[in-house]
Amino acid sequence: MLVVANWKAYVENLEKAERLVALSKRLSRAADNLIVLAPPAPFLGTFALKNKSKVAFSAQDVSKTPGGAVTGEATAQTYLSAGASYAIVGHSERRAAGDTDAVVAEKLAHALAADLTPILCVGERERDHDGRYLAFVREEIATALAALTPKERMRVIVAYEPLWAIGKTAESAISPDDLAEMVLYVRKVLSELLPGKNASRALVLYGGSVEPENVRDLARVASVDGFLIGHASVDEPMFASLVKELS
Ligand code: PEP
Repeated sequence: MLVVANWKAYVENLEKAERLVALSKRLSRAADNLIVLAPPAPFLGTFALKNKSKVAFSAQDVSKTPGGAVTGEATAQTYLSAGASYAIVGHSERRAAGDTDAVVAEKLAHALAADLTPILCVGERERDHDGRYLAFVREEIATALAALTPKERMRVIVAYEPLWAIGKTAESAISPDDLAEMVLYVRKVLSELLPGKNASRALVLYGGSVEPENVRDLARVASVDGFLIGHASVDEPMFASLVKELS
């Protein structure tokens, strides 16, 4: 299983970051899971450059620009150079801060051009009885992939993260049955966008209030390849038991 730990801006001191990195290294030695850490940018450089472990690192976002006179931006290339191998793109918190589907598509292209594996976040704000949320998710995926070559499309990991489930507790997360349905739907959308039979090989993750209490049931959904973890990834005991539940 792929476990992506999105630290967001929860971790603000180096000692805490060091403890979380050390814990992740220990956890990944003991299990088959691949842990990918997405720390705030300054910490990423500190840890990823000297990293020799199985743990991998991800940017939480990349600039929509290719660099130059853009104060405050960190480009995909910068993240690669700092030791990242993945980049989260289109997270709902970035979309809420102004990233449109078009901006997400640009960021995706920059991540791919820098040879980072993009983790494209998609997900509806709320569910309606008419199934409009399905069309919404389809549109998010299709717009993001539209300008990419077939080869590039195959490198994109899709993280289904419904906004209604983010930042709550295990009781508010998606049910295993609904997750199974949604992962199949994402693969169906991908089957129309990826060449040949590659949709079955694409990695599809789920994110939104995954905690030790629900991760094992969600992981039983055969078609899900892993999880994007927010708040539970920065609480050491919680993250340790979540990863152990997956082992
Ligand atoms: C997220 O925001 O990507 C996320 C999964 O957060 P949480 O686990 O806190 O719901």
